[in-house]
Amino acid sequence: MSRAETEVAKQTPKDASSSVVLQQQAVLRTLPFSDTADFDDAARGFLGTLEHAKIISASGRTVWSLEPYGFLAQSEAPATVNPSLWRQSRLNMNHGLFEVVPGVYQVRGLDIANMTLIEGDSGVIVVDTLTSIEGAAAAMELYFKHRGKRPVAAVIFTHTHTDHWGGARGVLDDATLASGTVPIIAPNLFIEHAVSENIIAGPAMLRRAQYQFGPLLAKGPRGQVDCGLGKSMAAGAVSLLRPTDLIMATGDKRTIDGVEFEFQMAPNSEAPAEMHFFIPRYKVLNLAENCTHNFHNLLPFRGADVRDALAWSKYLNEALRMWGGRADAMCGQHHWPVWGKERIDTMVRQQRDLYKFAHDQTIRLMNHGLTAPEIAETIRLPKSLEGAWHGRGYYGHIRHNVKAIYQKYLGWYDANPVHLDPLPPVEAGKKYVEYMGGADAILARAAKDFAKGEFRFVAQAVGHLVFAEPDNQAARAMLADTFEQLGYAAESSTWRNAYLFGAQELRHGMPPTPGRPPIARETLAALRTEQLWDVLGVRLNGPKAEGKHIVLNWSFSDTGETFVLNLENSALTYTQGAQSEKADASFTLARSTLDEVIAKQTSFPEAVGAGKVKVGGNPMRLAELMGLMDEFPRMFEIVEPKRTVVT
Ligand SMILES: [Zn+2]
Repeated sequence: MSRAETEVAKQTPKDASSSVVLQQQAVLRTLPFSDTADFDDAARGFLGTLEHAKIISASGRTVWSLEPYGFLAQSEAPATVNPSLWRQSRLNMNHGLFEVVPGVYQVRGLDIANMTLIEGDSGVIVVDTLTSIEGAAAAMELYFKHRGKRPVAAVIFTHTHTDHWGGARGVLDDATLASGTVPIIAPNLFIEHAVSENIIAGPAMLRRAQYQFGPLLAKGPRGQVDCGLGKSMAAGAVSLLRPTDLIMATGDKRTIDGVEFEFQMAPNSEAPAEMHFFIPRYKVLNLAENCTHNFHNLLPFRGADVRDALAWSKYLNEALRMWGGRADAMCGQHHWPVWGKERIDTMVRQQRDLYKFAHDQTIRLMNHGLTAPEIAETIRLPKSLEGAWHGRGYYGHIRHNVKAIYQKYLGWYDANPVHLDPLPPVEAGKKYVEYMGGADAILARAAKDFAKGEFRFVAQAVGHLVFAEPDNQAARAMLADTFEQLGYAAESSTWRNAYLFGAQELRHGMPPTPGRPPIARETLAALRTEQLWDVLGVRLNGPKAEGKHIVLNWSFSDTGETFVLNLENSALTYTQGAQSEKADASFTLARSTLDEVIAKQTSFPEAVGAGKVKVGGNPMRLAELMGLMDEFPRMFEIVEPKRTVVT
């Protein structure tokens, strides 16, 4: 083999090592693979679909397609995929329109999330609208094809995540929207939370999300196979519609197109605003995203506020009390339904106890003094939950959910002063390498441990070497190979994606990505003005702003709001409902004009020139302030040192 060929061989995904093969065989022996009820449920009521679930936008872009996942037709898991994850990945291949009960239908597998369609006296109520306008339009077309064309009587958003509302304009056309005749129903505080979760920390979250979902990984037995909740993230155009009717309290009811809905509020569970409902006419229960066919995430890898496992469990218990024994079918907004009173009851109880067990046992071990990694190493699900397929950690996982619970109560610090002020990765890496006798000594020992399957420690040790010597190709290759084996063995799709994407970036560097598009107008319109100032505040470059004092008055003609924006001590603050007599400049404009500027549809000087902004004082002080703002890169290094110096 030539040297160049050797290099290429190093870059190619490898086979599963013998220790991973043994691990996969143990999974096959331990979990109840003979229980195939999920496969029947996931296919039950099938009415029709689109070929390969393929959705193409008007401009010819593929918004969604399951065609690249054809390799999942094979029932037996290859050695490079955990058999439990392989099983879930195959279940998530079901796609099309399905009958839940006569009168209630679901479009599944055309997006990561589901659309639920409930037939009323003359129209249809659409629950959740998928991620994209193109996806939602395709789902509606599929439904109409099989159930006949009928008007949309209402749209319900179960919660605030984009895969549940992004496609609303594919369900309601402009004329219907303008008529205002179709209610849009959502849980209280929907609009406040729909976009804010991803705004302040958005740039960091989006980059981290690549590690969670693996969109830039090749799909295949050595690449991305699933996301646990569904196949993948959908592409396409997203739009946010404002709800016209908010559900405020548990027990609230609505009769829509002759169909009665009973609601239950579930805030701060899987989403900050979320709700469940029961439909007595159809005896169908919908627990949104709080009772799915996997252990959900208490803290997704992209980063988020930690979710409240205790509250989550209580909502499921309350749902049992409210509707236990009344539902013939239970469907959620991901995965497939469950039928039969007893099976529904069992699943909700097990899910309730899954979150409660994780919460209580984490706190118990924490109160005995165990730290987060020690808890993760110690905790085991009870046997009665371990064998329940819907409790498996395909998205969240017990081993990282316990760390989220620890973080929620105690934060990042484990109270051991060794961890109070450690050297950062590059400086620590260099010292570790020195202490361990240099790169060659580390790699020689790592190769031995790799052969024994001690991948977790090899990753820790060689990780130091990569941070000390990022251009050491042998170190990068060793760490990549190690991540890969950890990814192959992982049951959680998010672990697999994280490890395999880490391996890919070590082998090939960060993939090129197009520049970040500006925030969409509709998203901006959903933000409160204070949130815009908050976003501006986190862009302020503190060192550059040293010694500056800038005071600006803002007055918004359309919303009637006034603000003083104040820069001093390298911090940008604002006061609402006030104007400063000592302001350097004053601006009067419509909030919508400010949105246009931020969305880069116009520039501030252009808006001034067009007479859309009334200016007093010295407007150059605004230009000076904006000159202190950072632009965030779309990509930054994660598995290796930052190449750009950030101060
Ligand atoms: Zn979702």
